[in-house]
Amino acid sequence: MKDRLIRTVVVWIAIAIVYLALGWVIGLAIAPWFLYFTIRYAIRLQRALARTIPCPQGHAVAQWGRFRCTCGAETLSWIWRCAWCRTRFGHSACGTCGLAVGNPLLRR
Ligand SMILES: [Zn+2]
Ligand SMILES: [Zn+2]
Repeated sequence: MKDRLIRTVVVWIAIAIVYLALGWVIGLAIAPWFLYFTIRYAIRLQRALARTIPCPQGHAVAQWGRFRCTCGAETLSWIWRCAWCRTRFGHSACGTCGLAVGNPLLRR
């Protein structure tokens, strides 16, 4: 009974030593992925929060201002999210040419 307890404790200490010695290897593999997705999100957020966004033909589409949502509410807000019903939008039409402009936060 006592031998089993000692063996269990030794095994757990060995696992802890291996984890402390080699845990950074897993961290080294995860960190670049985390950094990549964090930087990618920061760049997309910068585009989404800018005053305007270019449509495929280069017209400046306002991302902040007076918008009418599909719920019927007309608000002074951000183009990608209704300030009233909180619906998020994936795309919007350019006011000049009518082509779709995608939400930068939802791009693949
Ligand atoms: Zn709405
Ligand atoms: Zn356009």
